[in-house]
Parts: sequence; structure tokens; C-alpha cells
Amino acid sequence: MSIEKIYELNDEKDKVSSINQLYLDIKKLGFFKRIIKYFQLDHDQKVTLKNYILNRKQELNKIKDDFDPNHIFEVEHFNLWYLNGKKQALFDINVNLKKNKVTALIGPSGCGKSTFLRNLNRMNDEIDGLIVDGNIYHNGINIRSKKMPILQLRTKVGMVFQKPSPFSMSIYDNVAYGPRSHGIKDKEILDKIVIQALQDAALYDEVKDELDKLGTELSGGQQQRLCIARVIAMSPDVILMDEPTSALDPIATAKIEELIFKLKSKFSIVLVTHSMAQAQRVSDETAFFYKGHLVEFGATRQIFTKPKNKITNNYILGKMG
Ligand code: ADP
Repeated sequence: MSIEKIYELNDEKDKVSSINQLYLDIKKLGFFKRIIKYFQLDHDQKVTLKNYILNRKQELNKIKDDFDPNHIFEVEHFNLWYLNGKKQALFDINVNLKKNKVTALIGPSGCGKSTFLRNLNRMNDEIDGLIVDGNIYHNGINIRSKKMPILQLRTKVGMVFQKPSPFSMSIYDNVAYGPRSHGIKDKEILDKIVIQALQDAALYDEVKDELDKLGTELSGGQQQRLCIARVIAMSPDVILMDEPTSALDPIATAKIEELIFKLKSKFSIVLVTHSMAQAQRVSDETAFFYKGHLVEFGATRQIFTKPKNKITNNYILGKMG
């Protein structure tokens, strides 16, 4: 039931029960307040909604005491709808992602991998009509909590996209951009950040004599490593990667895969990939998505040699999508 449709309902009881089915993030709770003000609800109905607002706020703001320090994310009963609830893209996802490991998200096209990945740093939040329900904890804090402003979340959980997308500025400025925009102006500090980030992204040796060159003039593989350096410059905990090698040739791909393998000593990595060979080469754990459901999750070797689920088996044997 979409939010607009709820407004159109005639029966107040229907309104309240429909609203109760929708669990919205804290930003959207204002909508509940408007409902209470606008509609002729009786006392009990108002109490129901007010309690809902209160409970959801408490849920979002509570620190998860039992958060396992070996995890980077704990995801609980996460559902997501696009188009004001008309299209459900994720169904009751429950999963724990481990610290300093590479987790691969695999599955046929349109099964929700990117949607899930983008939610880990709330990249999807700008999409009109997005509704989420359930909880995603990063180091014990709900990512929709007031304690985790979205900009802070995105510095902790960085993102590398499918198509390398350096800014049209120098290599140096690309990497310094994030730290600068967070207020670091000291040239010596910036130099250190830029050099180390480029080193960690396995690009420094190739570009050290031309840091003034435009980032967009590098080769595709170098541009992607520059984008990784740009994320590293923010010193994140997690790097999300959405098919980072699908636009690259095999040699550039091999370099990025080698890099991913190295990076996990410092960061946790969550990677969407269409390539099952890549998932097996670089990941420790694999999550298999199918039609918005997380069908199977486990050690990569287990998923690819002894999958428990028949659909997983069909997918890894190449029998679908
Ligand atoms: P995958 O990454 O596995 O290819 P996606 O997460 O991109 O899958 O998409 C999951 C489902 O959500 C698909 O059916 C897709 O069409 C739908 N979807 C993705 N983005 C939007 C959007 N902005 N609005 C509506 N539907 C969307």
C-alpha cells in the first residue's frame, strides 16, 4: 500500500492498519505526525500511531549491545520497496557481514544485489518513494539512527562504482577532495593522505611523477584504482564495490582483484559481481540473491562446491541468468 493510497482510503480503520504495515525511516516519521493531525482518528488510533513513532525511534537509536565485534554489518529483517511500496525489491534479509573479509554478492540480474549494496551506506535514500523496514547495524549503530548522520556514514562506508568516475581534476586533487571537503587544509597532511591512499590503491608507482595530470586522462584500470584511492583517503571501515571490473579489460581486472585481496587486511569489502570466477577468486564469503531474497549465505568455497539450496546450485552451474 503506497503512502498516497493511504491518504485516499475512506475508512479510518483501514488507514490506521495500512499505516501500521509501513515501517518508515526516521526522516519519514514526520508523515505519521501529519496523519495524526490531519485525519479524524479516535483516541486509541492516535495512541497506536504515537506508540509506533516512539518505538521506531527507540529502535533506530538504540545501540545494539550484542553486536559481534567480528562483524562489520548486522542486517535484521530488512525489507525494501521502490515506487512508494509498489515494488518490493528486498524481502526479509538477515545476514551478518564479517570484518576484514571480502563478501561477494551474486545472483541473476535484477535480483537486488545493487539495491542491497547501496543500502549499506544509504546511497538509495535519495530515490523518491523508497520505503525501508528492518535494521542495518554498522558497528552496533543503526545506520538510520540520529547518531549516524548520513555524511558520517558515507565516510565510514565508501563506494566504488561500476564505471570509473574520477572528477575532472588532477590525480592529487581527486584523492584530496574528500579530506579537503571535510576541512583538512594543511598541505603536509594532505600530501601524506594522498600518497598513502595512492600507495594503498596500488597506483602510486605509476603516477608519482604526474600527480598534476587529469584523473580522467588515466587508463580505465588506473581510473578505477584512483577511485579506490579517493575512497581510501576518507579512511573508511568498509569499501562497497558495485561490479568494479565490469568495464575493464582482463589485465586491469586482474590488478583490481589482486588489490581487493590486499585491501581486506585494512578494510572490509562488499562486492557485487556478475562473475562467478571473480567471486571465487577474491571473496571469503558469498551471498546468493534471487528475486530479492537472500537464498544462501556462507563461505565462498562451500557455496561454490556444496551449495545447500537447489536454486544456488542451478545458478552456479550456469543454468540461469
Ligand atoms: P541487481 O543489482 O541484482 O541487478 P537491482 O538491485 O539493481 O538488482 O534491482 C532489483 C530490482 O529493483 C529490479 O527489479 C529493479 O528493476 C528494481 N529497481 C532498482 N532500482 C529501482 C528504482 N530506482 N525504481 C524502481 N525499481 C527499481
